[in-house]
Amino acid sequence: MRLQLLSVLSLLQAGVWAAPTATGSTASSTAAAWDFRAGAVTEYPIHSSCNITLRRQLERALDETVELAEHARDHILRWGNESPFFQKYFGTNSSTAMPLGWFSRVAAADRRDMTFRCDDPDKNCATQDNWAGHWRGANATQETVICGASFVKRRWLDSVCGLGYTVSASPLNTFWATDLLHRVLHVPRISEGVVDHFAEDYEGVVELARTEPEKSVIDSDTLQYFAIDVYAFDIAAPGVGCSGNTE
Ligand SMILES: [Zn+2]
Repeated sequence: MRLQLLSVLSLLQAGVWAAPTATGSTASSTAAAWDFRAGAVTEYPIHSSCNITLRRQLERALDETVELAEHARDHILRWGNESPFFQKYFGTNSSTAMPLGWFSRVAAADRRDMTFRCDDPDKNCATQDNWAGHWRGANATQETVICGASFVKRRWLDSVCGLGYTVSASPLNTFWATDLLHRVLHVPRISEGVVDHFAEDYEGVVELARTEPEKSVIDSDTLQYFAIDVYAFDIAAPGVGCSGNTE
């Protein structure tokens, strides 16, 4: 017993003497070496097939997509699920966590391996009527093609509520930011394969919130409509917005 106690004491003593040196040196060298942000991909990658003119527009369009997602996130953080916009699009009883998560991922999740390209590797720009871009799906699941038509059609966020635009009556992809929000939500790097299409148009999205709100919080169109509606009301035409006919 006495021997055992002695050996325990000597172990403790060794520990007491060893610990400060070991812990101290480990902590300082780890702090110097580890940067959790090292190697992070913080900008949406643009493929070399986009020339400088297209790249400049795409960079601005992707910045506006982040701006749109950040504002949607901030609106939810400010008002929670008491926001009438939140209730219109996600139901009266939903947790804010899912939409907050998706908007946060669009705004700031790591963008490694994904890319936006301007060539037409699947020949959809050339062959599909009215396609202005597409997710490459099984051909390259983290890749998005932006066809030339996008650079003609899409509007910038500073025109929201102008040019006759209303949320309920105008096409969802009127703006670069809503169109690219749609496109990044197809990319598993951002949407984790969870966000999908469960509703067709404005009426369908509002109906989904009444009937299956658990799908609204993972519905791509719902997230886009919510984002542009709160951007219109809070930023573009403060306190007024341009929801259009909401009945
Ligand atoms: Zn889609």
